[in-house]
Amino acid sequence: MIRPLDGHLARKRFGQNFLVDQNIIRKIVSAIAVKPGEPIVEIGPGLGALTAPLIAAAGHLHVVEIDRDLIARLKETYTPEQITIHEGDALKFDFGALAAGSEGKLKVVGNLPYNISTPLLFHLAEFATGVKEMTFMLQREVVDRMVADPDEEAYGRLGVMLQYRFHMAKLFDVPPGAFHPAPKVTSAIVRLVPKAAGELDCDDDALLAKVVTAAFGQRRKTLRNTLKGILDDGGFDALGVDPGKRGETLSLADFVRIANYCAAKA
Ligand code: SAM
Repeated sequence: MIRPLDGHLARKRFGQNFLVDQNIIRKIVSAIAVKPGEPIVEIGPGLGALTAPLIAAAGHLHVVEIDRDLIARLKETYTPEQITIHEGDALKFDFGALAAGSEGKLKVVGNLPYNISTPLLFHLAEFATGVKEMTFMLQREVVDRMVADPDEEAYGRLGVMLQYRFHMAKLFDVPPGAFHPAPKVTSAIVRLVPKAAGELDCDDDALLAKVVTAAFGQRRKTLRNTLKGILDDGGFDALGVDPGKRGETLSLADFVRIANYCAAKA
């Protein structure tokens, strides 16, 4: 039986593992390095482990929280000058609207609920333009997938699609003992900085997603099989891509070349 923290019983369905290690909290807040007046939004403030020091540093914080009990506590603890509470699901939240009002300076941060981390990362990737940087805590295994290179076991759709939009770096690991309740896995902090326009442009983002999804859909199959109906033999020849290889051998630049070739042919 898990004991309550500050009178709140952690809810598994909301991925609630609260940070309790003050040294780790300081380390994360210092990595975020928010300056007074800088626009910043925290996903899942929970019981406020990061919220309080972030408000102290920035002066004002936007938060997106789904748990009504925690929202009520935030309202009791902070004034409207300190916090703007966006009640609801971060998976549906329009981060673009906040980014638009921030002149490209918005920081997005959070100790993310691990049960929705992959869809949340894909949702956040849509708002890369207009955001300054994002700093998140996630399961270390997810962070490894985000930053993996071709031919590494962790390399796959998540990494390619995020690497298309962001420069990413794993900052440090966080052990299970830093949380209450302690998760079963080690966590890690990762930083995402949006790539500038023109760094690696694809003519059709939806087509890129389709190619990447197909290439990693059946990992053991060759590209000739996984890209059937998307790229024919002439296409493989023209691009100099070996159809006998597997998706995990292709770099992000290869995927973009394939998508651009298909877009031009369509
Ligand atoms: N930031 C706190 C900390 O570090 O102690 C809590 C982190 S806890 C891992 C995840 C937080 O995200 C919880 O507060 C949870 O209620 C919230 N959350 C879960 N699912 C969410 C969703 N779909 N949208 C917004 N917040 C969500």
